[in-house]
Amino acid sequence: MNPQMLTLLRESRGLSGAQLAKLSGIPQPTLSKMENGLAMIDEGRLQKLADALEYPTDAFSWTDPIYGFGSAAFYHRKQQALPQTTLRKIQAQVNLTRMRLNRLLSSIEIDTQYVVPSLDVEEYGTPAEVARAVRALWRVPMGPVRDMAAALELAGIIVVRSNLESPRIAAISLDNVGTYPALIIMNGALPADRERFTLAHELGHLVMHSVLVTTDEAEREADEFAAEFLMPAAEIRADLRGMTLARAAQLKVVWRVAMSALVRRARDLSMIDDTRYRSLMVSMSQKGWRKSEPVEVPHDHPTVISSLIQVHLMDHGYSFDELAQVVALNEAEFALRFEVEPPRGAGLKGSHLRAVK
Ligand SMILES: [Zn+2]
Repeated sequence: MNPQMLTLLRESRGLSGAQLAKLSGIPQPTLSKMENGLAMIDEGRLQKLADALEYPTDAFSWTDPIYGFGSAAFYHRKQQALPQTTLRKIQAQVNLTRMRLNRLLSSIEIDTQYVVPSLDVEEYGTPAEVARAVRALWRVPMGPVRDMAAALELAGIIVVRSNLESPRIAAISLDNVGTYPALIIMNGALPADRERFTLAHELGHLVMHSVLVTTDEAEREADEFAAEFLMPAAEIRADLRGMTLARAAQLKVVWRVAMSALVRRARDLSMIDDTRYRSLMVSMSQKGWRKSEPVEVPHDHPTVISSLIQVHLMDHGYSFDELAQVVALNEAEFALRFEVEPPRGAGLKGSHLRAVK
């Protein structure tokens, strides 16, 4: 057993040492020694920990590298205010997600057509210029990006939807490190229009920023990148002249971005003035559209993870429970996290897990 994994698995459930002690029936001083590698863990204790944390015992012996990802990944959108236990829980879950993906990827090669370039904003002039360069590099056709998640996956970025513990976190993106590919974990609760802008924003970070950049400027740059990537100025400008809410609703269907993003784009490209922008935003607030917009657009469909699962099940002959073992999850959680249908008659009772939709 790897003491660091014990800590990671405990944190991934949002539990303190005291709480795990209570749940597992192992005295807290002993538990603390175990986590520091100073106490032996016999099989009986390992089983108690596994039961308390609802992980198979295998997970405790993983030796994958565990990465902190610094403040940068947590910087945007006001999440510093989150409690430490929540941040640790997210950090642990992100690490576990990467470890599980690595196991699924170990026997399968993913075809990628493009790379994620590292581009310097100062060299290019503006984040919008960088966005144009990436569109060109990736051969994105003119007009709306049909499927943002698919575009990212073609460049080798894995896209995962997850419950990120707080509505305040839209997404977390991680550069490729070691054998881990670049990864964007997005909040599964986001509506489709925000999801796409969020993905483009995170791509902006991956392309333009090192993990050390944590400034409001970097956030502004990622937003400008996303706006140009999804709504290229040269192609959308004429449509935005004299913007109204009815017009924004029509354009939303075409461009698959939020009405608020279109209204902001109209202002940023000087197609409406500040007064008009503010009055449109006030109208949207009054109608409750800042929280939930009318006009639904379809969600993007990341496919890499579901293909990984399918290849294991169909081509490599894994059974459902064998594959759950590969990623060291109990079967109920495996079905939930990877959106796999458990086989009929599989006993998934007795778990505390619920689907988060
Ligand atoms: Zn950001």
